[in-house]
Amino acid sequence: MTKRDYYEVLGISKSASAEEIKKAYRKLAIKYHPDKNPGNKEAEEKFKEAAEAYEVLSDPEKKQRYDQFGHQGVGGAGFGGGAGGGMSMEDIFANFGDIFGGHNPFESFFGGGGGGGRRVRKGSNLRIKISLTLDEIANGVEKKIKVKRMSAAPGVTFKTCPTCHGTGQVRKVMNTMLGQMVSSSTCHSCSGSGQTINHRPPGVDSSGLQPKEEVISIKIPAGVSDGMQLSMSGKGNEAPGGGMPGDLLILIEEKPDPQLKRDGNNVMYDLYLSFIDAALGTTVEVPTIGGKVKIKIEPGTQSGKILRLRGKGIKDINGYGAGDQLIHINVWTPKKLTAEERNLLESLRSSPNFVPQPARHEKGFFDRMREFFGNY
Ligand SMILES: [Zn+2]
Repeated sequence: MTKRDYYEVLGISKSASAEEIKKAYRKLAIKYHPDKNPGNKEAEEKFKEAAEAYEVLSDPEKKQRYDQFGHQGVGGAGFGGGAGGGMSMEDIFANFGDIFGGHNPFESFFGGGGGGGRRVRKGSNLRIKISLTLDEIANGVEKKIKVKRMSAAPGVTFKTCPTCHGTGQVRKVMNTMLGQMVSSSTCHSCSGSGQTINHRPPGVDSSGLQPKEEVISIKIPAGVSDGMQLSMSGKGNEAPGGGMPGDLLILIEEKPDPQLKRDGNNVMYDLYLSFIDAALGTTVEVPTIGGKVKIKIEPGTQSGKILRLRGKGIKDINGYGAGDQLIHINVWTPKKLTAEERNLLESLRSSPNFVPQPARHEKGFFDRMREFFGNY
């Protein structure tokens, strides 16, 4: 199933303000609200789809990632789950119920407990590091990674929190000079969820979770770079008592390539030519991201020349084409010579063609640097 664009889901433009995003979501949430559409599966899907779009676009950090990387950046289609895929109806109400201000039409969904204090807990984020080769970075890659997630353990039962009686809030009455003051705060026994653990089998922690190994498939878009962090919503640790799972955060690490060096979206390669090959011309093989490529070296090629293989660099992460491979030519000067070689070269020393005669139009090293890398 292809995922719809979040802006399209909410029927807004990319430049919509936070207020407009909220308004658009509110309209859809009311339209497809389960109270209004009992038993209507399609309305429920639309309701969830809108909540998922809102979850991402209402969060500046997630919105920025979405704008930059699309669904992949926020744990979208490729991740088999999606930002809101793991959200239950209750999660949606718990997280976005406040969008309706004081009069919350979702009240009935809190099971009569009142929308006031109960809070659905969110699981903690899980962090992993992925090392990628230059080739994987250049073309994008799908990785299957084994992660240990804290997951709800079977056999765990919960009971209503005895401290707050399930409300998630504790009220304190204080007598002050100005009279009685009532304050309420999140219940410490249950962290606001209204439930505490009743029975737990051995090996299960105090929040009813246990580590579980899981293989997760992660689609990494082309053009990522060292230190970049991707996020998959809902693939982190599960929350105690069935709340919203946390996110899986993926830190990208770049493995250095033995031959090619990355510079932004360009790839640099140092080619060493013998003085003979540079003078007579030849054909050489150079490594590129896609494998070896044959290039022609013209007779009379100067050391320091830069050849460009257009489009052989790294694909741009925003989809704006690809970088180039730049080949820097270095003419190799022999360090040791036999007597015979020395005699041969000695006989050429005063030959007019071997005397450097840089023409005015020939660009020197600094001109070339300026040309390729901008002024500095
Ligand atoms: Zn409690």
